[in-house]
Amino acid sequence: MISIEEALDLILGQVRALPPIRLPLTETLGRALAEDVFSQDDIPPFDNSAMDGFAVRAEDLRGATAAAPAALRLTETIQAGGNSERPVQSGEAAKIMTGAPVPPGADTVVKVEVTEEREGRVFISEDPGEGANIRQAGEDIESGDRVLERGDPIGPAEMGLLASVGRAEVEVHGAPRIAIIATGSELVPPGTPLAAGQIRDSNSYTLFSLCREMGLEPDRLGIAPDEYSATRQMIEAGLDYDVLLTSGGVSVGEFDFVKEVQDDLGVERLLWKVAMKPGKPLVFGRRGDALVFGTPGNPVAVMVAFEVFIRPALVKMMGFARYRRPLRRAVLDEPVRNRHGRVHVMRVRAREETDGRWHVRSTGPQGSGILRSMHLANGLIFIPTDSPQMEPGEEVDLMLLRENLV
Ligand code: AMP
Ligand code: MG
Repeated sequence: MISIEEALDLILGQVRALPPIRLPLTETLGRALAEDVFSQDDIPPFDNSAMDGFAVRAEDLRGATAAAPAALRLTETIQAGGNSERPVQSGEAAKIMTGAPVPPGADTVVKVEVTEEREGRVFISEDPGEGANIRQAGEDIESGDRVLERGDPIGPAEMGLLASVGRAEVEVHGAPRIAIIATGSELVPPGTPLAAGQIRDSNSYTLFSLCREMGLEPDRLGIAPDEYSATRQMIEAGLDYDVLLTSGGVSVGEFDFVKEVQDDLGVERLLWKVAMKPGKPLVFGRRGDALVFGTPGNPVAVMVAFEVFIRPALVKMMGFARYRRPLRRAVLDEPVRNRHGRVHVMRVRAREETDGRWHVRSTGPQGSGILRSMHLANGLIFIPTDSPQMEPGEEVDLMLLRENLV
């Protein structure tokens, strides 16, 4: 059996970023850039006003106060989207709106709140200092700057930047097409009453959601009963995808057909069994460009295998530069033990305490069928094999799953 780290290295070693495609800007959210993005222009492209107010020459305001305001002659009004060629001369002011270009000659903008307009003149009761309230051309981005890099994730700020530099279309990495299959003769979908011995398929829904959360659009191919031919038919269809995710049927039970079917369909097995609990019988292989993950059937094992192995593989496939989820050290708030001879991936509530450190507590019963342990968790901790007993205050590796709920 290989360790979690070895298994992850092996899996990631098989993964290549999908080739670039060109998409309209609004379809790129959540994708990885497949190109470096440069700006052709200064942004903002021209000096402009940061305030509604008056564009003036700083020298005309020296010493202006409420008691002795500077009185300047009003020349014109410049609105956002407008332009002015007319220079502001000594003793003059141009009324200007936020975002409007600063006219030649002016070097300062005075906000409207410290002024009073009367009979073609403006009285200014404050000297904000030369250069005040002017946004300089290129202060955000200079022409020629590389604003984004290949492998960067496109989020709201990045989409805004792409729009700012004028990109209506963007080269991004492709998104993997994913097939999901649940195996098990005991499984029925929700919406169907349970007969004796049956349970509801939850795995295809957790896998579906995990993929959808990543912006992917997986196909749930259905439930394959534990029979060779039905399993084969469905897995064969799943091998047309970039990634096939199956749950169940990878153990040593008499009706576990997934590995046998994979073999018969020419899937090269690269991994079976990882020294972790839950999730030990994970099987990973490939056929051509298709990557095949067979998670065990236990609902927690499915989600843990996804977080530890499948997510980083998908993220790398999507072309992101960072695809390994960072681990942080966390303090145990209660004793834990691991007598399994495998790393115990425990579901926890993690919280950043006032001491600046992350603290963790178990979510309760940790059986691999107890899906509520995932519902209650915002993190996973990794209890090493050689830890028959760990005491409160000792540190473990923590993988945060849901930062925003802490
Ligand atoms: P297996 O890995 O096929 O031996 O399944 C292990 C356990 O997970 C069994 O108790 C199954 O009933 C359960 N299980 C398998 N597939 C699913 C599924 N899709 N949804 C919920 N539980 C499942
Ligand atoms: Mg099964």
